[in-house]
Amino acid sequence: MFRLDENVAIVTGGSRGIGRAISTMLSRAGAYVVVADIVPADETLKLITDAGGKGETKCFDVSVEDAAQEAIRELAKRLGRIDILVNNAGIALDQLLLRVSAESLHRTFSVNVDGAIYCTKAAIRSMMRAERGRVINLASVVAELGNPGQTAYSASKAAIIGLTKTWAREYAQRNITVNAVAPGFIDTEMTLRLPEEVKTWILNQTPLGRIGKPDDVAAAVVFLCSEEASYITGQVIRVNGGILG
Ligand code: NAD
Repeated sequence: MFRLDENVAIVTGGSRGIGRAISTMLSRAGAYVVVADIVPADETLKLITDAGGKGETKCFDVSVEDAAQEAIRELAKRLGRIDILVNNAGIALDQLLLRVSAESLHRTFSVNVDGAIYCTKAAIRSMMRAERGRVINLASVVAELGNPGQTAYSASKAAIIGLTKTWAREYAQRNITVNAVAPGFIDTEMTLRLPEEVKTWILNQTPLGRIGKPDDVAAAVVFLCSEEASYITGQVIRVNGGILG
């Protein structure tokens, strides 16, 4: 397994699902993990410490600029460094185009896009000083393929790909890599409420013939955070069971 000893990582949306899997796998690779979420993330932290890892929880809303920046700046100051930021917090408010409200559009973008921007703005300063860092953004298969009922969500995830490529260019000279991981259909609470016929349709499009596990996504994140991935930046790593565009 790739090693991340001495690294400090922040994972947003780490209290459950993919964020929990990323947090625990980063910890198993040796990182000190800050499990950040809008709700308490004690269960994830317990999994980390029970397995002998180290970390802490941090509660803030990524979509509130002052809160996100203050939380991350405090961590950088106290812990002395931020090596890894995983912008995983995300929401999906599904509506067909004709029903999309300004409110759901705004909420989706403020968490999925503005939140990633606020957190990265705060963390990148510490990475610039250290002249090393890793930013991983969670995109989605629907950013590139689209999905009925996901106007706001697919647009927000397409935005994630755009800002990933922009930051990769902006910070390459500082030895900071920025990549996106685009999961397909992963078994979490976010996908739990999808109608059965949608699940069946997605599975029929998935050559590997199974729903993904949060650990499938976490493994790609850990690799991108490793020294071994130091020549990879501005990329979208698709973890989707082989779904083709
Ligand atoms: P999830 O709903 O299970 O977990 C999302 C986490 O984000 C929760 O812990 C939640 O509390 C947190 N969160 C939500 N709003 C927040 C805010 N404003 N500030 C801080 N934290 C907040 O989702 P998941 O399935 O684990 O998805 C994780 C990421 O992966 C998301 O960005 C999602 O869009 C993306 N993704 C998921 C799938 C999938 O199939 N599950 C597919 C593609 C992409």
